[in-house]
Amino acid sequence: KKKIAVMTSGGDAPGMNPAVRAVVRAGIYLGCDVFAVYEGYTGLVTGGDLLKKMSWGDVRGFLSYGGTNIGTARCMEFRKREGRLMGAYNMISNGIDALIVCGGDGSLTGADLFRAEWPSLLDELIETGRLTKSQVAPHRNLTIVGLVGSIDNDMAMTDATIGAYSALERISEMVDYIDATASSHSRAFVVEVMGRHCGWLGLMAGLSTGADFIFIPERPPKHGKWQEDLKHVCSKHRAKGRRKTTVIVAEGAIDDQLQPITSDEVKKVLVELGLDTRITTLGHVQRGGTAVAYDRLLSTLQGVEAVKAVLDLTPEDPSPMIGILENRIVRRPLVEAVALTKSVADAIESKDFDKAMSLRDTNFAE
Ligand code: ADP
Repeated sequence: KKKIAVMTSGGDAPGMNPAVRAVVRAGIYLGCDVFAVYEGYTGLVTGGDLLKKMSWGDVRGFLSYGGTNIGTARCMEFRKREGRLMGAYNMISNGIDALIVCGGDGSLTGADLFRAEWPSLLDELIETGRLTKSQVAPHRNLTIVGLVGSIDNDMAMTDATIGAYSALERISEMVDYIDATASSHSRAFVVEVMGRHCGWLGLMAGLSTGADFIFIPERPPKHGKWQEDLKHVCSKHRAKGRRKTTVIVAEGAIDDQLQPITSDEVKKVLVELGLDTRITTLGHVQRGGTAVAYDRLLSTLQGVEAVKAVLDLTPEDPSPMIGILENRIVRRPLVEAVALTKSVADAIESKDFDKAMSLRDTNFAE
């Protein structure tokens, strides 16, 4: 009987619970034993009670819970070989050699490293007498499958990450609330949204709510005079009769010198325009709440696909990441997706924004 472990790792995202539910139930349906690893990689490193065999009923109700019920963590130990060695030990002693990780690019990078090291980890466990050759023999290959759980939508080779549309929905709703009060008092609001180095949430929220101006990391103002552009656009809109001003600032927004553009700076410019201006940093409400229907569906379909991938991969196949491209659930090589995600970040860091955009826009559908 195939034994599969599922875990959530890194920043939590709405839809992680439905993903776990889908893996547990698809796994059981297809004749596997499914274990939940609690607290991200900490559960793998620690083992014991943090590795729990799941039954059908254990994930009841998970579709409508936000966050992740099996916990997540940033685990420093797993970044060290000794931590990964303990992870391998705990998996093998439970007879597990397939791991489905739902997390962001950090978590998936860790997962990929774990798989690359797996044979040498097993050798070390035998050499140091922690496991016997016969205990290890049936588990010589580790199957890793990645599910991308992140509100930032910052992973290459997939159109949407699990949680991104829920966060977008929440942000849009909040901006609507803010707009109502802004309009009443004829005020300006600077709304700071999450996204780390990716401007997807900021850009999409700006489009969804009709913001006056949007600052994102991928398109810094071209000539350094963003203050003038901002004033020009906002006063033009006011002149047309708009009673509110809304500026969205993504948390990674930068100017053409790669210096952060902060909400305080933006506010200063709006005040100079004579606008009564407030800053709202949306913060963690963006991650909270239940997943929107799109994320429930995405995580359910991808969770099932992850289990199918575990069952039909051969040791020669590269570890897949489950994505969605042009509305189809697809498998793409995890290593390549992680590498491409890093190339996009590197291009942004070296100011090559056109390269970053074209890398991101590459069409990976077959
Ligand atoms: P996210 O998955 O949301 O990008 P992090 O980057 O914090 O979040 O990664 C989550 C966890 O994955 C880390 O706390 C660590 O345990 C593990 N991890 C991340 N990068 C690596 C790496 N290069 N090697 C080993 N483990 C890693």
